[in-house]
Amino acid sequence: MRIDVLGVGFDNVTMAEAVDRALALLHGEGTHYVVTPNPEIVEVCRENLAAKIAVNEADLVLPDGIGVIKGAAMLGTPLKEKTPGIEFAGHLLERMAEEGLSLYLLGAKPGVAEAAAKNLAERYPGLVIAGTHDGYFKEDAPVAEAIRQSGADVVFVCLGAPKQELWMRKNGPATGARLLCGLGGSLDVFAGVVERAPKFWSDHGLEWFYRLCKEPRRIGRMMKLPLFLVHVKQEKRRK
Ligand code: UDP
Repeated sequence: MRIDVLGVGFDNVTMAEAVDRALALLHGEGTHYVVTPNPEIVEVCRENLAAKIAVNEADLVLPDGIGVIKGAAMLGTPLKEKTPGIEFAGHLLERMAEEGLSLYLLGAKPGVAEAAAKNLAERYPGLVIAGTHDGYFKEDAPVAEAIRQSGADVVFVCLGAPKQELWMRKNGPATGARLLCGLGGSLDVFAGVVERAPKFWSDHGLEWFYRLCKEPRRIGRMMKLPLFLVHVKQEKRRK
């Protein structure tokens, strides 16, 4: 049973359980995908039915940050812990490296995925980089085919939300990969283009504030955070 937060169903798992679930999907039959919504994406899903379907149809829905955890607690249905996409990716990469599995990186500006691939190959010896592609392409089919040709086990799809969720739902099976993970701006972090907030900020639930200070142009998007809290309060009253 998933925990509903304003129409998005979240899996109630610890980070360790999330990684185990992802590995099980990876070793199962067929193609699966993982999403890591934050409050901003929950708000997008309230307005965009296609996005909501793509998010809820994922095989694993992980709360990306403290906002969703707070929202779930306020609604009286707490989630075990936050499982930020980028940290989930790190744990998954460790396990993939141990098993010698292969990874395709899709997304970000030209050159970023290659730089991320180089850093990840150094950081996770044993990991096989199957290929990379930037996130600014017009047609999906040739990209899905390139991934299929690469034989990748896992694809990190980093096109921003909800583009990446829609892309994975539509094109996942055509890639032939067993697991796709929608990870937003993670390639920029892996490539060293963007820094993650220092631990102090994320430990205090203030990663969003750190990012806002670094990238003030995010203010419009971040206004969705207070809106999310207003909607959670309304939902609580309604319940
Ligand atoms: N991006 C992309 N193709 C697009 C739009 C965005 O590859 O058509 C990339 C963008 O370059 C960035 C990532 O998607 O690397 C989205 O980053 P953002 O910080 O918006 O994601 P978040 O982590 O906040 O979801």
